[in-house]
Amino acid sequence: MKNQGNTCYINAALQALFHIPAFVSLVLEDQRHRDNCTLKKNNTCLMCSVAETLIRSHQSSLVVPVRIYNQLPMIHSFLKRGRQEDSHEFLTHYLDKLDEEYLKRFPISQRNSNNSATSPIKLIFQGHILQEVTCLNCKGVSKSIQSISDLNVVLQDSVLQAISVYFQPSKLVGYKCQNCRSQSGAYKASSIINPPNVLVITLNRFQAQTGAKINSPCKVDPTLDLKKFYKGNKDGCRYKFLACVNHHGPGAKRGHYTCLAVAANGSTYEFDDEKVSPVQNSSADDNVALGSYFIFYEKQQNKLVDKK
Ligand SMILES: [Zn+2]
Ligand SMILES: [Zn+2]
Repeated sequence: MKNQGNTCYINAALQALFHIPAFVSLVLEDQRHRDNCTLKKNNTCLMCSVAETLIRSHQSSLVVPVRIYNQLPMIHSFLKRGRQEDSHEFLTHYLDKLDEEYLKRFPISQRNSNNSATSPIKLIFQGHILQEVTCLNCKGVSKSIQSISDLNVVLQDSVLQAISVYFQPSKLVGYKCQNCRSQSGAYKASSIINPPNVLVITLNRFQAQTGAKINSPCKVDPTLDLKKFYKGNKDGCRYKFLACVNHHGPGAKRGHYTCLAVAANGSTYEFDDEKVSPVQNSSADDNVALGSYFIFYEKQQNKLVDKK
């Protein structure tokens, strides 16, 4: 993909999305919409522009995602053309906006409370986590369910370790129990109750205030077994690496983004704007570990895993 001036953050995120089979099918299967879309002529339809960019990426060795670039003000008001942005922020706003556009096709009466039944984007990326807070005084448990579109984890030596730390039970100080009214503290434990089809892991590489980068390496595991973080049904606890967006340089809005992804032929490639090169052993690659920023994993069907 051609860089249009500080647009590597868009290119890397798109390259990753274009290697997610569920996302690719969703976009390609939308032919009927494209045939009837009245907005695509003036480039105000997000679905048509992403489809056009994806189809061109299959036909030509060099793609200029200019239609998506020109839609940046539509995607979010603070994404400015010509300025380097945070690739993960772009991805989040882009998927949110695509979701919003898809939902407009359904009358409100057909949507459920969190829109999940009608939103194809949420069907791919959304999962649910159960949070249980146990009061240390009365042992009463308060439960809540949170929907997640990605797991924001603190940097560790590997992605799996970072996930383990995320799910580690922690003590809550100053928690006021609704049951016994005591403030003697509580334990918080989280578990996965509805695993997403595509799990996005975002490593906290950038300091919130300064945006400065934390340069510790984090190994990207080729597969993940998340069984011990599941509650109840343990189906679909294995995940396979699909793509990773890497950052090189000092801060989220500076430096350079590239993408590493597994192609349909099973080989891994690095996408650095218009340069595409095969990667021998992605998981062992120190550069990837140093730059890994957000990573996409695909849920494996248990039957397929058992056959191996
Ligand atoms: Zn359209
Ligand atoms: Zn209590």
